[in-house]
Amino acid sequence: TKIAVYQVREEELPIVEKWSKDNNVEVKIIDGQITPENVHLAKGFDGVTTSQNMKVPAEVYEKLHEYGIKQIAQRSAGFDYYDLEEATKNDIIISNVPVYSPESIAEFVLTQALMLIRKVREIEEKTNERDFRWQPAIRGGLLGEMTVGVIGTGHIGRVTAQLFKGFGAKVIGYDLYPNEEATKYLEYKDSVEELVKEADVVTLHVPATADNYHQFDYEMFKHFKPSAYLINNARGSVVDTEGLIKALDEGLLAGAALDTYENEGSYVPADNRETGIKDELFQRLLDHPKVLYTPHIAFYTNVSVRNIMNIGLDSTLEVIKTGDTKNRVN
Ligand code: NAD
Repeated sequence: TKIAVYQVREEELPIVEKWSKDNNVEVKIIDGQITPENVHLAKGFDGVTTSQNMKVPAEVYEKLHEYGIKQIAQRSAGFDYYDLEEATKNDIIISNVPVYSPESIAEFVLTQALMLIRKVREIEEKTNERDFRWQPAIRGGLLGEMTVGVIGTGHIGRVTAQLFKGFGAKVIGYDLYPNEEATKYLEYKDSVEELVKEADVVTLHVPATADNYHQFDYEMFKHFKPSAYLINNARGSVVDTEGLIKALDEGLLAGAALDTYENEGSYVPADNRETGIKDELFQRLLDHPKVLYTPHIAFYTNVSVRNIMNIGLDSTLEVIKTGDTKNRVN
């Protein structure tokens, strides 16, 4: 059995090597994402896995079909870069890695919440200036006395609720489809508006859908407590950046920690040191004193990196051995 592995970062090489040995499967690393130009390199292999953040056009599925390959295993939760219809037409199974480490994202949410509540940035600024006075600008609150609102109570939302509960916070939740498991850690509210009215911290864990595009806009922030913090580790499109900046400037809420931005596209993950940020809205967000921005790294732990690669390779092998995979998305 032979698998072609596209788009591998250096840190992933030892994981691929170990998987190959453990499963007694030959693997070949191919530089870059899969494209019409390099798909021919998959010829002669039994399966393909990649990590795309650019479109996979029809030609790729047609070529793979021609080579007798039956799948592409995407190594991420998102699979929006695939044309599922074209893939199905060519008998190509597309799979993803739906769950790899909800704990990694949840622990990062706790980090962000505590950084905001304990005013870590302000403390750091004062400390750098050698201003060591105790003053209200750096005086923190107590998470254990707060109410935390979790919107989207799936895999990540639930672990997040559990961790906040562990700190003694009261946790409330909202989901289009409430689930029993989550009620161990939170109490459901009937609407987003009802939740944000009560919450001191609001954290988003919903997928990006057509109906939640810019759900958190200026109008929504009017329902927030002026002392509340917003945390978004879901998808940037759920928050109207322009509306958020206006709301922060007017004091409708106290601050935000954002791991995603609606137009992060070509900027994340990438080294922008030489080229800078040309998107004016993004620049305003990055410069904003009440915003803690991080470049989509909530998931980024050693556990996630290992699980994403191993699950991607497992799905590839599963299709080769059984003709299908539980992680199929088309
Ligand atoms: P999940 O499918 O387990 O849970 C999503 C939950 O949201 C479900 O319970 C669903 O019923 C609910 N939901 C869907 N649409 C909704 C809406 N409009 N309003 C309210 N609830 C809604 O997904 P998950 O594994 O918990 O991941 C959640 C999201 O986190 C992903 O879709 C992804 O965008 C994001 N994510 C971010 C990172 C990062 O590094 N920042 C990493 C992984 C995932």
